[in-house]
Amino acid sequence: MITTKMKNLSLINVLVILIVMVVPLLEMDQTAYANTSSSSQATVIAPNLNVREASDISSKIIGLVHQGDTFEVIQTRNNWDQIKLSSNQTGWVYNAYIKKVKKSAENIKATEDNALNIRENPGYSSQVASNLKLETILTDQDSQGPLEGKTIVLDPGHGGMDDGTTSIFGTPEKTLNLATATVVKKRLENAGANVIMTRTNDTYVSLQQRADFSNNNHADAFISFHYNWSNDPSVNGLTDFYYQKSKDNALASNILNEVAKTTRLTNIGTRFNDLNVLRSNSQPSTLIELGFLSNKQDDSVVESTTYLDNVAQGVYLGLLDYFNQE
Ligand SMILES: [Zn+2]
Repeated sequence: MITTKMKNLSLINVLVILIVMVVPLLEMDQTAYANTSSSSQATVIAPNLNVREASDISSKIIGLVHQGDTFEVIQTRNNWDQIKLSSNQTGWVYNAYIKKVKKSAENIKATEDNALNIRENPGYSSQVASNLKLETILTDQDSQGPLEGKTIVLDPGHGGMDDGTTSIFGTPEKTLNLATATVVKKRLENAGANVIMTRTNDTYVSLQQRADFSNNNHADAFISFHYNWSNDPSVNGLTDFYYQKSKDNALASNILNEVAKTTRLTNIGTRFNDLNVLRSNSQPSTLIELGFLSNKQDDSVVESTTYLDNVAQGVYLGLLDYFNQE
């Protein structure tokens, strides 16, 4: 037993020595690069992360980075960071997926000691094909989106003759609901989901018809988007609803928790509600109220340019949490 242990230990020692010797050679341009940068660095924490042309969820995808990749952050705008891919290429990433690291020799060393990036072509800018670690080899060649194979029905509340409520700024709820679902749709499609909308323009759709979209398409999740209103102007925050606890509650609470994080509005909790669109729905379903249009603070956030991106990211992360728990 002792002999075997000793052998294992010496094998590990050899591997450590090899990696310590090889990593600086292979990653030399990364190290040199890191040392010359003056701004902060960030490490990708998602398996795959899209790099976009602009700080916008609907902006063109210009590249893909991978878990463990470290980049210089040039600037931060709202929830987006502009990163340097190579000396002459930059792009924007949603910063919920990256971890800022304080640039120090210790951090750089730790990154390099833990894993050896195997790239498709020579050079730091090439895609990472896999990560060689001491104890395991992780392949990173799955380019499928994390929501691949999932059918998501998005339901922009109200429409046509039914305005829903109206914001302090005079925007009908039905318009905000449609804008929200449209931005969420793009985000989920980028993650590989099959997304179906119950309406794509300003038309009236009955509650039963909305539920039928979900039932007939065997949706993996149905999400109805609404904005709230109260006679009390001080009432604010986010809430969502389930009808059948065993079927709907996990979906509802995962989505609300993530949306509350990405939007930073008050989380007032997931609750039961006997809503037709949920009651008639045989699939996991929720209705989310994305802030009070009767509250000055909520309304100014809700109608700001970045809000829908934040909602979309929250819904996406909530769905990931939900499907990972299933
Ligand atoms: Zn509504």
